[in-house]
Amino acid sequence: MTSGDRVVVALDVGGTGMKCALVRPDGTTAHAERHATETARGPAAVVDTILDVAEGLAGKALVAGLTPTACGIVVPGVVDEARGVAVWSANVGFRDVPLRELARARLGLPAALGHDVRAGGLAEARLGAGRDGGHVLFVAIGTGIAAAHVVRGSAAAGAHGAAGEIGHILVRPDGPRCGCGRPGCLEAVASASAIGRRYAELAGVPVTAAEVADRAAAGEPLAGRVWREAVEALADGLATGQALYDVETIVVGGGLAQAGPQLFDPLRAALRARLTFHREPRLVAAALGDEAGCLGAALLALDDTGDGN
Ligand SMILES: [Zn+2]
Repeated sequence: MTSGDRVVVALDVGGTGMKCALVRPDGTTAHAERHATETARGPAAVVDTILDVAEGLAGKALVAGLTPTACGIVVPGVVDEARGVAVWSANVGFRDVPLRELARARLGLPAALGHDVRAGGLAEARLGAGRDGGHVLFVAIGTGIAAAHVVRGSAAAGAHGAAGEIGHILVRPDGPRCGCGRPGCLEAVASASAIGRRYAELAGVPVTAAEVADRAAAGEPLAGRVWREAVEALADGLATGQALYDVETIVVGGGLAQAGPQLFDPLRAALRARLTFHREPRLVAAALGDEAGCLGAALLALDDTGDGN
């Protein structure tokens, strides 16, 4: 049997859905499938589904003549990667679930447990838009702003699992209150949700961030102002990130990155204007879309088995 026949089982568990795949050692996908998480059933039922899906994937690998060698699972929230425990998650309901050991026992394979955003950053840094740079800051801008700092193919978790959380850099002390409880965090000003909220507050019309971008592009002054304010705040946050991390590449993903040049052109200029002696990083759009977390789960499993590259 050649090494091309080897695959890892990879699962990215989110609050709504699970992205699952069989991934080869070179990072290509042999098979992919998606399942609903259905968190309303409670965390025990979600854990059962995770283990059933993982076992099902390993079975499909064998039927297809592939050899499953390991399993990687990534989840949101607070993750103790060293112990393999999903410590806490608001949207899935996990409380101290020893997911790595449960997966190892069910599949009879080595297993790795990771954090969804750090895994997504890992995948973008090694297989996606950041693959030419050894130091990468991955920033996902959607409902909130989550981030991961990846150095030479490994995502730093920090002492308490919260490294790289630039969404909670204080950028506007008098600004709107963040979900974390403090006013003025970057994600309270510049996440896609925050942009929609700000426009609604000023215009009295509820719209999405994408619609604010469209209206700004069409020349509507109010939308232009809201968009500009968000870009300025993002540049403040990224400049702080660059002062701390000195990366080669900042990869921006999540829903807001779909605005394309309308986001990246002014953001690049605003970031450049804020940097003095720090080197300007490449600012690029994420390349792997919503598969980044699942590919990152596969990389964690491959790293464990020594199969990856
Ligand atoms: Zn915050």
